[in-house]
Amino acid sequence: MTLDMRAGIRFPLALRVILWSTGLFSAFTLLAFTVFYFIVSGMLQARTDNDIIDDLTELRALYRAGGMSALHAELASDAATDGPEAVLYRVIGADGGLLFGTDASAWSGIESPRQARSGIPKDGATVLRTLALGNSAGRARLGYALLDDGVLLQMGVSLREDEAFLGLLWKILSLSLPALMLLAGLLGWLLARRALTGIGAVTEAAIDIARGDLGRRVPDAGHGDEVDRLARTFNEMLDRIQALLTCLREVTDDIAHDLRSPLARIRGLTESAVVGNPTLEDLKAAAGNTVEECDRLLQMVNTMLDITEFEAGGAIRQWTAVPVDEILADACDLFQSLAEDKGIDLQWTAGAQAAVQGARRPLQRLLANLLDNALKYTPAGGCVRVSLSRLDDRLAVEVEDSGVGIAEADLPRIFERFYRCDQSRSAPGNGLGLSLAMAIARAHGGTITVSSRRGEGSRFRLVLPSS
Ligand code: ADP
Repeated sequence: MTLDMRAGIRFPLALRVILWSTGLFSAFTLLAFTVFYFIVSGMLQARTDNDIIDDLTELRALYRAGGMSALHAELASDAATDGPEAVLYRVIGADGGLLFGTDASAWSGIESPRQARSGIPKDGATVLRTLALGNSAGRARLGYALLDDGVLLQMGVSLREDEAFLGLLWKILSLSLPALMLLAGLLGWLLARRALTGIGAVTEAAIDIARGDLGRRVPDAGHGDEVDRLARTFNEMLDRIQALLTCLREVTDDIAHDLRSPLARIRGLTESAVVGNPTLEDLKAAAGNTVEECDRLLQMVNTMLDITEFEAGGAIRQWTAVPVDEILADACDLFQSLAEDKGIDLQWTAGAQAAVQGARRPLQRLLANLLDNALKYTPAGGCVRVSLSRLDDRLAVEVEDSGVGIAEADLPRIFERFYRCDQSRSAPGNGLGLSLAMAIARAHGGTITVSSRRGEGSRFRLVLPSS
């Protein structure tokens, strides 16, 4: 896969992840910064107000105890300590005249003593106001308190330092925002890259597979995340597809191989009928043999089609309760004369009445195949035992023979299409009987297992869900 193609696939999604993460992060950060700024500014104002109220209360008490001279001395000392541009005190008489005041030269824009008195409630409650001072002195907070004899005490506190602090804070916050946005973008990019690398690997594998490399798999990054799960599922799906394709190839090879012999025989029969001077009898015999071979061929093709249909599902169109005990007894009766002819002891034990949901005819074929094999691969003097038993919600049919048995190496393969063990090649058959039996069993929700030992016999066990 080229770099351009990769970029073409990843870029839009990665970009969207980056934009979303950066956008959301920036919006939340801006909101958090604004809230933080207003909380700090509110706290500073509350602290200033409390300081003013506390000071005015103390000064009022001092005035009450020590009179005007004590008040003047305290105000002068406070103003000298803090500086006249940081704090202002004025004592205003009931007629609006200024009785005492600290240096107000830095407090341009402050109201006249007479104006200061207006709007002050007579009940003595402390009043607070904010005043914008001129000539870039910033703002100030003013507190007004009426003393006992109607004298007004005014106190002003410059907010310049608080405002400088808030300005600096806002500058720091707004400068850090772009840096944080950059960081959020970088993080978004890293996350998108990490997440999309796995998807990219799946896409690359899919492209290679589409080009014919069926053995290609997506490497497991080992993170155990969703992308790894996608990779694992993808690999499992590929394993399954590869197994199916291998199976398909084998089946095609087998079909070609197994159809070749009957076709060659038909050709040979026909050829021998037309060369030389065949009599009418010869021709009739050749035609009869050809028909027989064609029938065998047809049967083989039909069985293959039946297997495919049962494996694909949907072959059973009408589901009914099929009495297995009954059809098994019928099958044993049917095979009894064949067993006698071959000198085999066929024993049938009906354990219980049992039925399955399914189709009668296919189940008969299944049982007939198992019985036919047992008799076919058991020499004279041997015995075949057939039994039926119920296990909870299932039923089991066992066909046990004392015949030639199956080699361990052959056991896993005998249910494959066209598979015939070497020792059975001389016996009639096409290697499709057990494949069909298994396909029918599976179509009924059951299965067939086998245990066998070479030279000691075999036991086939069919298990079906009972109705
Ligand atoms: P076939 O037409 O060859 O009988 P099957 O599919 O029925 O085909 O069986 C596949 C192979 O399994 C047989 O060729 C045979 O080698 C082996 N087999 C099946 N049943 C038995 C049995 N009861 N005893 C020994 N071998 C068996």
